[in-house]
Amino acid sequence: MAGHCGTCTACCRVYAIPQLNKPAGKWCEHCAIGVGCKVYDNRPELCVDFACVWLQSHQRARGNELGMPIEMRPDKCKVVFSPTTKDGLMAGITMPGSPDAWRKGEARRIIDMMLKAGLRVVVGPPASTTKIMLTLNSEREVQLTEPDENGMQWSINE
Ligand code: SF4
Ligand code: SF4
Repeated sequence: MAGHCGTCTACCRVYAIPQLNKPAGKWCEHCAIGVGCKVYDNRPELCVDFACVWLQSHQRARGNELGMPIEMRPDKCKVVFSPTTKDGLMAGITMPGSPDAWRKGEARRIIDMMLKAGLRVVVGPPASTTKIMLTLNSEREVQLTEPDENGMQWSINE
């Protein structure tokens, strides 16, 4: 997480942070939920570098170009979207307790926009290597590899 996130701290729950021994899907011990990071100035590189799709849209926004609406913020739509290390592949990690959030509402609108733009989207809960791969015309289960040393799960056994 970074500045401009408002009261969202969703990424501090869904992702694994190996440097903190923090598993995916559990709140980080340094997170003031809905407030921010209690160790902001000393947070790990992974946290410094991370910006979800919603935050990126606000970092880019200027002039008449607006960022994504607040209803699409991960704590509201219950899915944290981010680019992956694979070209054209986005990831949507659902918040614990909301495994179907990607099927409806604002999260689904985000997915549909991505698919229409020619992207693929892999969705599913944190800490599970079983995810759903979405394309404009298909939906199928895929198996991800175990997280790498950075806690990412973006390799897919296709
Ligand atoms: S999920 Fe996005 S908006 Fe929410 S705290 Fe993380 S970077 Fe900020
Ligand atoms: S160290 Fe801070 S920014 Fe990183 S996951 Fe924990 S609460 Fe979030």
